[in-house]
Amino acid sequence: MQLDLSGVKLALLGGDAREVILAEHLARLGAQLKVFGLPVQGKNIYICDQPGEVLEGVQALVLPVPGVDENLRVYSAFKEKPFYLSEELLSRLSKGTLLFVGIAKPPLKRLAVKLGLRLIEVMEIDEVAILNSIPSAEGAVQLAMSKLPITIHGSRAWVLGFGRTGQTLSRLLAAMGAKTTVVARSPSQLARAYEMGLGTCTFKDLKKIAREVDVIFNTVPALVLDRDILELLPVNVLIIDLASAPGGTDFEHARKLGIEAILAPGLPGKVAPKTAGKILSQTVPRLLAEELTLL
Ligand code: NAP
Repeated sequence: MQLDLSGVKLALLGGDAREVILAEHLARLGAQLKVFGLPVQGKNIYICDQPGEVLEGVQALVLPVPGVDENLRVYSAFKEKPFYLSEELLSRLSKGTLLFVGIAKPPLKRLAVKLGLRLIEVMEIDEVAILNSIPSAEGAVQLAMSKLPITIHGSRAWVLGFGRTGQTLSRLLAAMGAKTTVVARSPSQLARAYEMGLGTCTFKDLKKIAREVDVIFNTVPALVLDRDILELLPVNVLIIDLASAPGGTDFEHARKLGIEAILAPGLPGKVAPKTAGKILSQTVPRLLAEELTLL
């Protein structure tokens, strides 16, 4: 059954092609959108000239998946001039207003608590993270293919972390014929990787196999590729770090050693914005309806 968001008042601030798809979908469901920083138009969409204008009288504010940075700068692919949130701006929202964002950095979390806003981190929701892992894994492999002088097939690939992204990525690499080794700390994750026919290794034992790798994909948001391990890797290894900034690699030391290490954030939005927008469109309206008890 199609959701009916008729009359629900929403604000959208900034974003990229994903939020364009989401905005169009929300408007089709009947929501009244006030928008700043997105090239959208049509029925139920009102474009505002200033960020502050979108916030008055809305039931929810939808921020972009990457949200805002440490200085509260709003991620915006379409506005050249940077714009920022502030306590003053957000205090235009009534207490209890929903605040959707992909991932919230500490300053936004603090403001949400201070102003009594109901923060929903969409990318923390398992269903979204799993769906999002599909374009993330494809994007990581695409990046590796563009950088490696060898095929993925037959390459010796490590996947660090075996959560939602690591599992999808390992399956994709193995299906492409990569000799895939999963590195994880959890015995149950290692057991699952073994069951899937993948190689397994603990972080403790990584040094033992460090010479035998062509490409490393990191999904662990903690420093796992530190100096000690980097120094044992072959210099022509490629590191693709998917973990949220600052990643899990000592990039400075990798550079000193001549190892190519790439922090690759926001892959779904870059390689498959339409799919990523559809994933948001599947979940945000339902969450809105649940939170506003419209169901
Ligand atoms: P997840 O499901 O929570 O998986 C994280 C994995 O890392 C788990 O195996 C976890 O093991 C492991 N881990 C966490 N902290 C660790 C530590 N200190 N030492 C060793 N292992 C540790 O997360 P996810 O959804 O796969 O996302 C992983 C990261 O990728 C996040 O930072 C996310 O923001 C990012 N991401 C980036 C993109 C992109 O486009 N670049 C796309 C999607 C996600 P335990 O279960 O034992 O904790």
